Amino acid sequence: MNKASRLFWPTLVTPKNAVVKQTEQLSRSQKLLTELGLVKPGSNGTYQIMPIAQRAIDKCIQLVQSNMQAAGGQKISLPVLTPAQLWKKTGRLEGDISEFYMLRDRSGKQFLMSPTHEEAVTAMLASTAPISYRQLPLRLYQIGPKFRDELKSRFGLMRAKEFLMKDMYSFDVSAEEAAQSYATVTAAYERFFRQLEVPFVQVEAATGMMGGSQSHEYHFISPVGEDTLLQCSNCSYAGNVEVFGSDTDAPSACPKCQSSQLSRVRGVEVAHTFLLGDKYSKPLGATFLNTTGKPETLIMGCFGIGITRVVAAALEVLSTEQELRWPKLLAPYDVCVIGPKAGSKEQAPAERIEHELLQLTQICGAEQLLHDERKELTIGKRLLDAKRLGHPLTIVVGAKATQAEAPKLELHTSGGEKQELDVAQVLQLVDSHERHKQQLLEGTEQTDTKRSQRVGHVH
Ligand SMILES: [Zn+2]
Repeated sequence: MNKASRLFWPTLVTPKNAVVKQTEQLSRSQKLLTELGLVKPGSNGTYQIMPIAQRAIDKCIQLVQSNMQAAGGQKISLPVLTPAQLWKKTGRLEGDISEFYMLRDRSGKQFLMSPTHEEAVTAMLASTAPISYRQLPLRLYQIGPKFRDELKSRFGLMRAKEFLMKDMYSFDVSAEEAAQSYATVTAAYERFFRQLEVPFVQVEAATGMMGGSQSHEYHFISPVGEDTLLQCSNCSYAGNVEVFGSDTDAPSACPKCQSSQLSRVRGVEVAHTFLLGDKYSKPLGATFLNTTGKPETLIMGCFGIGITRVVAAALEVLSTEQELRWPKLLAPYDVCVIGPKAGSKEQAPAERIEHELLQLTQICGAEQLLHDERKELTIGKRLLDAKRLGHPLTIVVGAKATQAEAPKLELHTSGGEKQELDVAQVLQLVDSHERHKQQLLEGTEQTDTKRSQRVGHVH
């Protein structure tokens, strides 16, 4: 069980009337994360993640992993340093590399602190003895830090110089098979975003410096979003204005159905997928042996999810100015229990109820409970912390817990009203919260069936 008194939780205390120098543009979520001591700014554009926020990020990693495994993914880890030589071979070193961290080792050899790993993973396959068509499709993914020398870091974790990404690379025998991999992985992406219960949209996107023939982005809709998206309410079309070059070149009628019911919204990009073809495999010589034993070039796709950005952007969309709100599957804890204040006249009897209540760990697991036993603090102070942290369920063992007739606990749900309930009713609500989480997780299997049906339609 997690005890609040032991938690490393460096809350930011700003003295009243202090003049705070705004060094970066703060978003709502970043302001709360910083004030609550969940994230600390490091050097310009980098962040130190404190234990409570780390729990949410770890849960996001787990959820992404289960979906990647369900889509046939196999996890690997590639070095952060990629030899610049590989980027020379694919021609990407000639492009705009001002956003990349380049460095030299003591022998003068140049490396990139990888912003992405197409070259590295393709060179790895090229250096492997030719693989057989029987081993394909191959879908390899990793989760690790990525680097980008942002000119304007802002909105905290949403646009940082170092961020956590899941990147998957698919290898297939043909363009048709690569399209099948693309359909399978993008279906897993949709499942993941549905599990988060944050409104999202998949849009047609520009391929940019990544290249390839087809590309989609996944966006959370938010006013702080840096992208302008077109959405047609007459058909299913949605696209990033970047596809048309710029906002001013974007059409006023739907490019698909010509309807004029085309609206503009702002989006935060949280994931990006590409059908790459042979853009990387050809120059780097990544081949497989076909059915007649002849080498052929592998056909690739790549699929990114910004893990830290998903967490920050979900908070941005769901939270209020005063309180964080988490996707249920990412909340650092499911339940917070606040016990009586030391020295209060109801302390002893209330502690007996508190003890009885803590059996709720049998329902949600001890790991998902935060016990706020900082008895030197008033209940009101601790409840304020709990509400700002946005625990899905907060249970207060206060004065009414000790009344002889029908003792009551206070239950606060994130974003909901206060309820007065007895212990059994509280346990029931914890149970239904856990069931809901389970249903969201099991969505993995349910939507998996849907996916194979849909893929069946395409081919
Ligand atoms: Zn349309």
